[in-house]
Amino acid sequence: MKLVIIDRDGTINHDSDDYIKSPEEWVPLPGALEAIARLNHAGWHVVVASNQSGLGRGLFDVSTFNAMHAKMQKLLAAVGGRVDAIFYCPHTPDEACHCRKPEPGLFEQIGERYGVELRGVPAVGDSARDVLAGVAVGCEPHLVLTGKGAAYRGRSLPETFPAETRVHADLAAFADFLITRETVVA
Ligand SMILES: [Mg+2]
Ligand SMILES: [Zn+2]
Repeated sequence: MKLVIIDRDGTINHDSDDYIKSPEEWVPLPGALEAIARLNHAGWHVVVASNQSGLGRGLFDVSTFNAMHAKMQKLLAAVGGRVDAIFYCPHTPDEACHCRKPEPGLFEQIGERYGVELRGVPAVGDSARDVLAGVAVGCEPHLVLTGKGAAYRGRSLPETFPAETRVHADLAAFADFLITRETVVA
């Protein structure tokens, strides 16, 4: 199966240093939902992997978190897209869990759920921890220059990033890259 793993905050929707705590605060980035729909139409299953320490910090509860994703899926459906599943880490950094990116636990859960080898599976996010979590399980690393990634616009990436990291302006450019590459190969 064609699987792509996508970070949420700063990659699909606007991020905030104050956390995204409600459906009202969950606002898609320009073109991001359409990008997911284009990937779906090209046969890609889209799965989200997201650190959500706001849950562990008590900033919002699981039902509010689910309401954010109901909004996301509704907006996605309006443009013909969907996300297959949302894997998230609810822990705070203090809990030293195995699933908070850059730890690879969320990715391992995805691999187990789908019964797929993650080597070469594209993974995209807006920060080094997304890239590092993916690379730890053999995913192909992609960075978007939205959200936290905006800090790298017009600059070369620091050495914290694996050398093979591919950089895209936004999720739309990432989707174009995956789809175009397939077309060229075919
Ligand atoms: Mg992010
Ligand atoms: Zn965790």
